[in-house]
Amino acid sequence: MTTENRKNAASNEPLVGTESQPELESLALALEAGLSQGDLKSFYQRFRSSHLPFLSGRFARDTASLFRECFAVLHRLGGISAAAAIAVENHYYVSSAIATFPASGQGLSAARIQAVHRLLNEKRLLVANTNAKVHSGKLGEFGVKARRERGGFLISGYAAYTSLATEADLLVFIAQIEGERPAVFFTESLQGNQAIEIGPYLFPNAMIESDTRSITFRELFVPAENVIAPADDEQSEALFAFEMAWHQLLIPVVYLGAAARAIEEARRFLRETRGRDGNPLSELDGMIIDMGRLVLEYDAASSSLWLAARALADVRELPRDAGRLKRAVELSSVAKYTGTRAAEAIVGSARKIIGARVFVGNHVLSRLSQEVMFGPLGPEVSAVIERRAGRQALSELPFLGSNSTDFRRSDNAQTNAKGDA
Ligand SMILES: Cc1cc2nc3c(=O)[nH]c(=O)nc-3n(C[C@H](O)[C@H](O)[C@H](O)COP(=O)(O)OP(=O)(O)OC[C@H]3O[C@@H](n4cnc5c(N)ncnc54)[C@H](O)[C@@H]3O)c2cc1C
Repeated sequence: MTTENRKNAASNEPLVGTESQPELESLALALEAGLSQGDLKSFYQRFRSSHLPFLSGRFARDTASLFRECFAVLHRLGGISAAAAIAVENHYYVSSAIATFPASGQGLSAARIQAVHRLLNEKRLLVANTNAKVHSGKLGEFGVKARRERGGFLISGYAAYTSLATEADLLVFIAQIEGERPAVFFTESLQGNQAIEIGPYLFPNAMIESDTRSITFRELFVPAENVIAPADDEQSEALFAFEMAWHQLLIPVVYLGAAARAIEEARRFLRETRGRDGNPLSELDGMIIDMGRLVLEYDAASSSLWLAARALADVRELPRDAGRLKRAVELSSVAKYTGTRAAEAIVGSARKIIGARVFVGNHVLSRLSQEVMFGPLGPEVSAVIERRAGRQALSELPFLGSNSTDFRRSDNAQTNAKGDA
């Protein structure tokens, strides 16, 4: 795949909104400057004052275009700091899922989602989220509870993860309603709220720029209309799945941005450095093959990503397209699994090509080397993705059947939309 083909893998349109390009370049410079000064305030000021955080307002209900735009931003930032890009990714995946959720009808979730979408874009808010999970002795435990109180809910408890915690304005969170199922809530006042304590960095070394912190709720009151996805609403489950698909699509973009940067750094090193014979290292056949291997890994992972993005864009109306949503969720989990693993391998191989000088001075691969290993760790843990694939392969249907190998074909969406439902 040539660079141009790679850019156009998803469609014939330019990869990134060309209008966004100057703002994106200026944001990238602000990120580089902020990292060298150890302070990202100016980066976030630049981000907020641009139109980049509010792409979801422009591309509402247009998953394909919105994904392309988010790809451009996250891939670029991921090549500078995967950690900072992860903070931005958390804003993008929530705001994008809300902007493109194709619920039909007048369901409660649909109306609330519309309201949050308007709020984010009209007030130009950044959004953080927490799945309310805790690191306890039992996997999957929720740390946040909601108690019904007149006109709303009282929220209490602790959550391990919130990225963008000290920059975001609005927080979307899950809480377990007492005696009921978990539901999704939001609060518009994350900062300076006496009922919300933003804790110290969860990752105090690598990934510090993701601004990931624990969070504690102390009897935060949220009115009933701040429940985005009520436990008993028929659209809530589809919203969870749709949002997860967005998240698993955008996470690998960040880390593939780091991988692309690693390939670029290896390219520069090999072209600019001469061997003992005086010839550029880039002319050594072994190096050419090594670079080819990295590019092929990158291309394979990117192809999986764009295939999954197209599958999500095919979800145009719910519940009608429930089968397509299932396929998009599966493909996005494949893309996340493949993309984050490939990125880790590519950055590691590029580091070996360049050698110890990666850790000299302020080399970008020093930071990216420490950050890229976080890719495979979430949101879905690898064991869950592997088990799903293993179960499918071991079902009574043969692997060489329409439920296994064929579902990966991009031209097969319609068949599977019916077959998988
Ligand atoms: C940099 C970063 C930023 C994040 N930011 C946010 C954020 O802003 N908001 C948010 O809500 N979350 C955030 N997360 C959390 C993320 O969404 C996942 O919840 C998290 O990464 C899951 O990893 P864990 O180690 O906490 O999982 P755990 O569930 O604690 O799993 C730990 C380990 O147990 C094993 N395991 C777990 N489940 C299974 C299973 N079903 N079967 C077999 N083995 C299993 C696996 O080996 C797994 O690695 C962030 C994570 C990272 C790494």
